[in-house]
Amino acid sequence: MIRTAVTISVGDELLAGETLDTHGRHLADALSSRGCRVLGHQVVGDDVDRIAGAIGSAAAEVDLVLVTGGLGPTLDDVSREALALATRSPLVEDADARRDVEAWYAGRGRPMPRGNLRQALRPETATCLANPNGTAPGLRARIGEVEIVVLPGPPLEMHPMLQRVLESLAMATPRPAIVVRASGIGESDAASLIESLMERDGELPVATTVSQGVLSARIRGRDERDVPRLEAMASTIEAAWRPFTFGRGDVTLAETVGVELVRADLTLATAESCTGGMIGAAITDVAGSSAWYRGGWVTYENRRKVEDLGVDPIVVERDGAVSKAVVTAMAAGAAARSGADLAVATSGIAGPDGGSAEKPVGTVWIAIADADGVEARCFRFPGDRSLVRSRAVAMALQMVRFRATGVQASLLWERTDA
Ligand code: AMP
Ligand code: MG
Repeated sequence: MIRTAVTISVGDELLAGETLDTHGRHLADALSSRGCRVLGHQVVGDDVDRIAGAIGSAAAEVDLVLVTGGLGPTLDDVSREALALATRSPLVEDADARRDVEAWYAGRGRPMPRGNLRQALRPETATCLANPNGTAPGLRARIGEVEIVVLPGPPLEMHPMLQRVLESLAMATPRPAIVVRASGIGESDAASLIESLMERDGELPVATTVSQGVLSARIRGRDERDVPRLEAMASTIEAAWRPFTFGRGDVTLAETVGVELVRADLTLATAESCTGGMIGAAITDVAGSSAWYRGGWVTYENRRKVEDLGVDPIVVERDGAVSKAVVTAMAAGAAARSGADLAVATSGIAGPDGGSAEKPVGTVWIAIADADGVEARCFRFPGDRSLVRSRAVAMALQMVRFRATGVQASLLWERTDA
């Protein structure tokens, strides 16, 4: 039974900071959702001794060692050799793997580069894992009772192979967990609303995290018997964080906006300046959003605000593009010109330049227009350009929800004195 694992990402490009180690996260997610506790994760360069050493020490403490990367055809990829070293098993050619690599090239009408023959090698005691999406087979071996699995680096090859490997291993039963999502409330405020649930000596402690303007509360049970209590706790958190909660699990704020707009039979348009289309992108990430999203404008330059949305140039001149009057006119123009029931508009200073004493970097106006008029709010988002923009997207979507469902509540980072 696989209960614990260590994951190892291999590649000089990861250590150089050129490629983000997304496999580490993907493996952690895949393993923990299958009841396997990840006790450690390591990033190692393309170095035989280091990779073999990492595999060897991990094998001393867990049931499964999962390695990704370093199975390519070129000489810099040495995970195969490292597995041979760690398992004290010489490399031999695998007849099936050789046939697969040759067939892969034959099927594409291309001659096989000589280097690719290396990919048909495996430690004698290991088995090859077929790779229908590329030329590098994965490898599976054992050190004592410990399973060692090496997967190719390219994500489109790694993901399906990981799926198949995990299906073939005897994994423990996953521990039940519920994640509650909210946006527009500060983490400490949110935590103080559920103080008694958050005590670490509680039987099922709650852990909160924040990312991209979204606050998550994660509660984990020990086994299936905890599910009713988890449900009750999740409902308590949702109620305590209302109206900021928007869903559970992997649901996104844009998905919830869509569900609520469809329920209210409303459509939406966007007019974006500082968010540059990010609200539209978040919305169109949701499959089926054409049912409620009409489309939008990215009016970055002032002239576009004037010509495309009908903002009065005198108002732009008088108040500046980042102002209540301009964002209000943007939202009203987008609603009128799109025919949508609701329109959301953004105009702000994402930085790093362009701030002033009166309007520092992070100042963003967001407006919502509908048949009843326009409501504009001023925010002061902390963080760099990317954070300011992603927070603005989250607050804009929350404002749409609030407007569509008749909620009155001020949001995190909102300037009520503006
Ligand atoms: P490799 O098989 O190690 O040569 O990896 C091939 C490619 O897969 C690399 O150039 C990366 O683009 C990608 N890759 C490998 N490891 C990772 C990782 N840990 N996270 C994200 N991408 C990776
Ligand atoms: Mg590599």
